[in-house]
Amino acid sequence: MSEKKQHPATIAARGAGATDTSTAGIVPAISPSTTFLRDTDYDLIQPQNSYGRDHNETVRQVEEVIRRLEGAAATRAFPSGMAAASALMRTVRSGGRIVLQSGIYHGVTSFARGYAARRGITLDEVDTSQISELEYACKSTADLVWIEVPSNPWLKTTDIAIAAKLAHDCGAVLCVDATAATPILLRPLRFGADFVMHSATKAINGHSDVLAGLLSCADETHTVWQAVLEDRHRAGAILGAFEAWLLLRGARTLALRVERMSANALELARRLDAHNGIEQVFYPGLESHVGHNLAKTQMRGGFGYLMSVLVKGGHEAAAHVASRLEVFERATSLGGVESLIEHRHIVEPQSDLPENLLRLSVGIEDIEDLWGDLRNALE
Ligand code: PLP
Repeated sequence: MSEKKQHPATIAARGAGATDTSTAGIVPAISPSTTFLRDTDYDLIQPQNSYGRDHNETVRQVEEVIRRLEGAAATRAFPSGMAAASALMRTVRSGGRIVLQSGIYHGVTSFARGYAARRGITLDEVDTSQISELEYACKSTADLVWIEVPSNPWLKTTDIAIAAKLAHDCGAVLCVDATAATPILLRPLRFGADFVMHSATKAINGHSDVLAGLLSCADETHTVWQAVLEDRHRAGAILGAFEAWLLLRGARTLALRVERMSANALELARRLDAHNGIEQVFYPGLESHVGHNLAKTQMRGGFGYLMSVLVKGGHEAAAHVASRLEVFERATSLGGVESLIEHRHIVEPQSDLPENLLRLSVGIEDIEDLWGDLRNALE
């Protein structure tokens, strides 16, 4: 089947066609070599393979899966989501300006704040889901606009097409962290974003056993992308071969997992929304969610696996619910096959997050086991 006609589930399940060409194995071999042979004339036997820090065959294979899923010009894999995010942020020149969505994953915010302070970069944190705020921020020149769709932990939805136009009009590039959506549900480059970033540690791998990050671009010739390539090359932030192989394997079931996780999440969101122990549910799949209509036009096939809830009764009540759960595990992170819950305020007390906020990452378990667990804990 030609590359164009394949759907995301096929691209992922087939590892974008990666096989073991030396044995005809259906599964590609891991390529752990850090260095590569030269012939007697000192020419590289395989010109694309010189040294492991430049590139690696297994890494290339997983990058190709993501490149095709995103509809990107190119993709590069990094040893963590933060390594990918920081490689892009480091392209912003000293004295430049970053417009960052407020209330997003705290690791990205902390990196941006530290980097901006060190480099004399102006950092403006704005609620980009309010287009008027983004419009205002984009009245002055900027280098980078960074948004998260949907955002973690508030599940806010920003209009990517409008954000791309505003970013471009003020001279910036737009990067979308789409970790909570996966490329199955959301393809930001289609809406005009220049870059899309994922913590592949989350749903793309899906088994809570690999740290990885991905960056993809719309235009390989863009100077910012060239700077990202240079940064990965010089700084040596390449994903390890074993991790790349596991990621390739995990990603084979991505479409199936995302379908089940999203269906479970939607059902739980509806039931929690109707429960009198819950003050508010934040999930873009709920019709009552402020970003629902926009999410419906940007996402396809579901609204993702992440949601947050406010428990009635404050800090104690939320901590009590979290402590009583038996199927949901109390742990940070998201996107694995197992459902996780996190009391964000305990983990991040310095933040201004409400003390009764619980973040749920919904896995692929049976919906009735998940619901029974939550209902029981809420009693
Ligand atoms: N972006 C989002 C939305 C995240 O939730 C995370 C991690 O939780 C990251 C980026 C960072 O990814 P990693 O933990 O793989 O460095």
